[in-house]
Amino acid sequence: MNFETELKKGKFLVSECPFCKIIVWPPSDFCNRCLKENSWKECSCEGKILEFSKKENTIFCVAEIEKSLKILGEIISGTPEIGKKIKVVDCGITNNNYFFKMAIIE
Ligand SMILES: [Zn+2]
Repeated sequence: MNFETELKKGKFLVSECPFCKIIVWPPSDFCNRCLKENSWKECSCEGKILEFSKKENTIFCVAEIEKSLKILGEIISGTPEIGKKIKVVDCGITNNNYFFKMAIIE
């Protein structure tokens, strides 16, 4: 399974160690704790805002997803506040950078 191949298609996968029961981030085929092989699953894509900032008309935020990984993304709808719930509604790769677009869901 290749994380980037799937991300290009707009699918957000996370690697999880079946032994440690942790999500391994950045995504990897192997657990960074026990070095065994991870399994892949589709991310729930839900999380909360840890930080956000505004630049012109774009709102960027750092969100914590699945209680374990932190991603940088753009908020495309809703009024951001720290701690608010978000959902990743779009993701992919442009110019070799990952992008995540999020909507506020509460
Ligand atoms: Zn492990």
